[in-house]
Amino acid sequence: MIRSAAPGPGALAPRLPSPVQELSDERFARHGVRLLLKRDDLIHPELIGNKWRKLAPNLAAADGRTVVTFGGAYSNHLRATAAAGRLLGLPTVGVVRGQELADRPLNPSLARCAADGMRLHFVDRSTYRRKTEPDTLAAILGALGEEGAHVVPEGGSNDLAVRGCRALGEELRGRADVVAVACGTGGTLAGLAAGLPPGARALGTPVLKGGFLGDEVRALQERAFGGPRGTWSLDDRFHCGGYARTTAALEAFAADFGDRHGVPVERLYVAKMLFGLAVLAGEGAFPRGTTLAAVVTGRPFPDPA
Ligand SMILES: *Cc1c(COP(=O)(O)O)cnc(C)c1O
Repeated sequence: MIRSAAPGPGALAPRLPSPVQELSDERFARHGVRLLLKRDDLIHPELIGNKWRKLAPNLAAADGRTVVTFGGAYSNHLRATAAAGRLLGLPTVGVVRGQELADRPLNPSLARCAADGMRLHFVDRSTYRRKTEPDTLAAILGALGEEGAHVVPEGGSNDLAVRGCRALGEELRGRADVVAVACGTGGTLAGLAAGLPPGARALGTPVLKGGFLGDEVRALQERAFGGPRGTWSLDDRFHCGGYARTTAALEAFAADFGDRHGVPVERLYVAKMLFGLAVLAGEGAFPRGTTLAAVVTGRPFPDPA
């Protein structure tokens, strides 16, 4: 008889399907648009949002092996992986971009990772850039003594993760015409679009500057599903200067949105997406009668409460 080495992520009692909440907001209502929030931030208190959807299948595949993954100094993905490791008793390693960080006190995000038992391994930026090349990856795993580990890419968007995000679209079947999500790697958008029914579409708002994400989403769908799936598009106007950058207008919008609706607004991703939707609604981009679902993919860190 085969016995699994570790409890699976299902043991963590995720709240799935995640709740859907209708908001009353005149910036949308005025244009005949119904606004729903898809509260993926409520799936699990520590394994939050799309990180749950992407990590759960990877944690199952790791089956007790060490999970090695990659991220920057403020990565939501690293924190979620570290929390999962603690909750499931899985060893985790975070390969962090920036050798210089090794000699400094840990920032609050990395300190949380370490407190959750994640082993942090700092690499210089040029090695980090080459981390998906087989030789570089093998050297990193060798240096860690983790040749047999389950490796999850930066941001968590491998095939398992993209397929895991299909359920997000499936949970919204018959409930929304347009589903909006903030994009980092694009893995969540790639899976979401695949799970939506014909007639519904997914809209991604990249938080990184560069306009390269369309090719990434196509490549992710090709690898996960063997070809394009669903209807999706990107609007590149709402990155507000790039990753972790903000503007006074974005900050004011996010604070006001949080106050009005009592929803904590995560600033790196969710705020930019909601801001973009308000702009688009104002431009008349959604036909009257549209039901728009905005995916709340995360929560602020550290928790403001
Ligand atoms: C990681 C993250 C995203 C981006 O997800 P991708 O699948 O990488 O595009 C969006 N929102 C939040 C809150 C995140 O933490």
